[in-house]
Amino acid sequence: MKNRGNIIFAAVLAAIVIIAIALMALFGQKDSSESSSTAPTNTATETSTDYKKIDTDGQPMMGKEDAAVTLIEFGDFKCPACKYFDENIQPELVKKYVDKGDLKMYFINTPFHGGESLIGANAAEYVWKNEPKKYWDFHNALFNAQPNTQDSTTTNWLTNDVVKKAAKTAKVSDVDGTVKAGDKLSQKTAVEKDINLYQKYMVQQTPTIIINGKKLDDPMDIKAVEKAIEAAKK
Ligand code: CA
Repeated sequence: MKNRGNIIFAAVLAAIVIIAIALMALFGQKDSSESSSTAPTNTATETSTDYKKIDTDGQPMMGKEDAAVTLIEFGDFKCPACKYFDENIQPELVKKYVDKGDLKMYFINTPFHGGESLIGANAAEYVWKNEPKKYWDFHNALFNAQPNTQDSTTTNWLTNDVVKKAAKTAKVSDVDGTVKAGDKLSQKTAVEKDINLYQKYMVQQTPTIIINGKKLDDPMDIKAVEKAIEAAKK
């Protein structure tokens, strides 16, 4: 009986060792694949086209919480079409729908154009975190600072000086902190959250506009945007 007990004990021990080795191999593999993956393409991200489920928790929002229509913009301060949307379409939507309580709008950073996109995103996240009431004025001031040329994605303009001027225009109290946040890319967690979102929802272009879970074909066409909002209101 003693021998049988020893055999069982040895078998259990062997099984535990095998499982432990298997787990180590599994986690070891996961670690190495994570560290070797390079941003922004993260194939490990779970993808979805169920835009109704986009998690807007903690994102900059304009409008009334209980508005019937939700617009989500995936945008980039370096993107000319986003500047167009911000300066020509958004103000109309604010007048017609946000101010009347029918629409709320979210902005999710989608930094497609490298370092300067990240400067804008980090500075804006800092303002949203510390002085949320100043966020949209700062957001608009950054877009206003973008040069009116299609090559604004490749020319260097989103500098610390531009962030400083935009913060002053928006009457942000902590101008130095905002500049530093952009320069040091200090809002890593918030920006990574946004990057994970655009990857999850496979956003290919900016701006991508989602209205009550539906992606617009042409967000530059104000009539189409308004039509989508009207349809969502019903
Ligand atoms: Ca964000």
